[in-house]
Amino acid sequence: MITPACASYSGCSLYIHVPFCIRKCDYCPFFSKDNESAQSVNLYFDALFKELNEIVFSKDRPFETVFIGGGNPGLLGAERLMKIARLLNEKGKVREFTIEMNPESLTDDMEVLFSSSKVTRLSIGIQSLDERHLKTLMRSASLSATLKALERTAYYHDRYGTDISVDLMTCIPSQKVEDTIADIDTIIRRGHVDHISLYNLTYEEGTKLAERLSSGSLIPIAEVQQREFLITLWDYLEENGYHQYEISNFSRTKETRCLHNERYWNLSDYIGVGPSAVGTFHDGESVIRRTGVSDIETYCTENDEKRYIFEELSSKEQILEYLLVSLRKNEGIDKNDFNKRFPIDFSTFFSTQLKMIERQFGSITVDTRDNFRLLRDGLLLCDSFIELFADPVFDLSDPLDR
Ligand code: SF4
Repeated sequence: MITPACASYSGCSLYIHVPFCIRKCDYCPFFSKDNESAQSVNLYFDALFKELNEIVFSKDRPFETVFIGGGNPGLLGAERLMKIARLLNEKGKVREFTIEMNPESLTDDMEVLFSSSKVTRLSIGIQSLDERHLKTLMRSASLSATLKALERTAYYHDRYGTDISVDLMTCIPSQKVEDTIADIDTIIRRGHVDHISLYNLTYEEGTKLAERLSSGSLIPIAEVQQREFLITLWDYLEENGYHQYEISNFSRTKETRCLHNERYWNLSDYIGVGPSAVGTFHDGESVIRRTGVSDIETYCTENDEKRYIFEELSSKEQILEYLLVSLRKNEGIDKNDFNKRFPIDFSTFFSTQLKMIERQFGSITVDTRDNFRLLRDGLLLCDSFIELFADPVFDLSDPLDR
């Protein structure tokens, strides 16, 4: 078995992918299966627990952060989730331990996860609080289950100090910006939510929603209008005390930001466990990407050589990834950090791009000696800025020498 070097490295995070859903949502590009048999869930859990055990016992400290996502981790049930939480807290308390859950899976018996304080953060996939839009997305949760889940968040937060986050979607066909505002109002009124992830709906290749779009049965919200939606909603979240720290993420305070995602955006080491789970970690001087094969049976029956794909990331790939995640953050690119990580000087290497940006986009960007970042209107054009910076990186020869 190839044990990730990160497994014995103390500053590391862990992502666990639970590949089961009640019903596949039409927009979802993630690897997950609906209607899996109890036997398949059991086999998956046994394989997962075995792998986690091996990893935990090769480490001398707890993971910095843990995130159980999916899929719908709630489908593992409270007992199995608790078993995982206990195991991962065995080498010391995990600083931030998040479980993602669909509203209908947040049943009474899940309380133990939070009352034990082994799980510190709950992320609920709400997406919308309007039956019409839930239907467009083909979400399995009913509105009443979602409202009930929201009410539980207030209870968990008040009683156990659990940090609560919700995922919300906007720009759903036929949706009005007022609909999302009403969703935000309900979330604030009915729950205790310190963190909101707000995404605009995308039509990913291979999803049913993309098929519906190409068959003409859906009319997407026009791009210009999508930008207007986002600006209005970003303003509204700010007015209500949620501060944007990444293009899609808003938090009431610095302390309630998602540390796990911040570590990911800072390219800190993390490993991914389960089918389709991705991890990136150092092995000596090399940076390794480990990706789980998207097949539950392979995960349950094969060894690591077959169920994970290992590849070494080139310096070019690392720079591209750094640009991709950093430009989405409000804090932008820390030039000193960039220069420490890579054998090129940010301001010198990108001087042509920076001059052009200053001329054409000076009002929506900030470029100082130490930092380059996009202001709010710049974030709306984030993909174009990423492309602009990526362009000269493609021409570099690899490996890059210091
Ligand atoms: S519940 Fe989540 S993971 Fe499952 S299909 Fe829906 S969006 Fe995808």
